[in-house]
Amino acid sequence: MYNDAKIRFQAAIKKYNETYGKRPLQYKKSVQKKMKAGYVPSLRDVKGLPKFHSKKQGGFSYTTNQTNGNIRIESRDGATFLRIPKFPEGIPVRLHRKLPADGLVKKVTLKREGTRYLASISVDYPFEKAPLKETVLAANMTALDYSQSGLYVDSDGKKAGYPRFHELIGKRQRRLNKSLARKKERAMKDENGQPVYSKNYRQTVVHYQKTMAKAANQRNDFLHKRSHQITNDYDAIVVEDLDLTNLAQCLKLGKKLHDNGFGMFRSMLKYKAERKGKHYIVADRFFPSSKLCSACGHKKERLRLSERTYACESCHAELDRDHNAALNLKNYGIHALLDTGFLADPVSN
Ligand SMILES: [Zn+2]
Repeated sequence: MYNDAKIRFQAAIKKYNETYGKRPLQYKKSVQKKMKAGYVPSLRDVKGLPKFHSKKQGGFSYTTNQTNGNIRIESRDGATFLRIPKFPEGIPVRLHRKLPADGLVKKVTLKREGTRYLASISVDYPFEKAPLKETVLAANMTALDYSQSGLYVDSDGKKAGYPRFHELIGKRQRRLNKSLARKKERAMKDENGQPVYSKNYRQTVVHYQKTMAKAANQRNDFLHKRSHQITNDYDAIVVEDLDLTNLAQCLKLGKKLHDNGFGMFRSMLKYKAERKGKHYIVADRFFPSSKLCSACGHKKERLRLSERTYACESCHAELDRDHNAALNLKNYGIHALLDTGFLADPVSN
């Protein structure tokens, strides 16, 4: 593994020199700032160089793509084998789900989670899109407003009741981290001054990886179940068009936002809705869902992020900020369905 990384790194350097060698080195923006203060940049600070993955923390992950049927699932002697390049004899696997019969394997990612190995198989297959429901009652519509603390608030003002999986195990994780740091400090050094990790240390790392993987699995499970339930209960689901990476940067929420899993949740809602013939409506990016008053339509010029209650200057309605936004999204969806002729006539119903 290590040698392989070295070879790839050298190849990348060579390519970099060939492509950029004639131009002066460009440094990352964050480094340029530090350079003004007298910081001397190293190779690591050069723009466009490959990133390193931590040998210890990153675990093991390997992806291989399908070319001309070199990835296959085979059954032999009552066992199932995964055939990937370099493993002509196949790797015995336990399939958690049957693969779709007319599916095409696109790629396989092998990953280590603690002591077990997982193979995620990406399959392309034509899934049955149910025909879109032709008439939708406004009462059978819901809208979800993204909420940083709890995934979403819906247009009935209900919160998702989303357990913060990473927070739940956070305490445990901190304890493990401490224990790792202590073990690292005490580790013996080899002749090159590199620490030699004890068996105990390695076991703690495995334990750590297992804990993190468990949290991620629990979260995905929650998102699957909830999106399944919503797409069963409602005929139309309205969400806002969020650029999550952008939001993460401008709010400096970074990690927290990505832990939240809303992006994943939206894509689950979308494909589940399509399968069930339900309407999945994304509000226009410039629709001011938080600034509008859901009661009278008045638009606030300014709404600070810290204002958790929406108080309308015009009709004096007061309600939770996220609930107000979700109601606006629902109204947006009602108009969208009205325009396309899918909304059931509110008078005749
Ligand atoms: Zn109002």
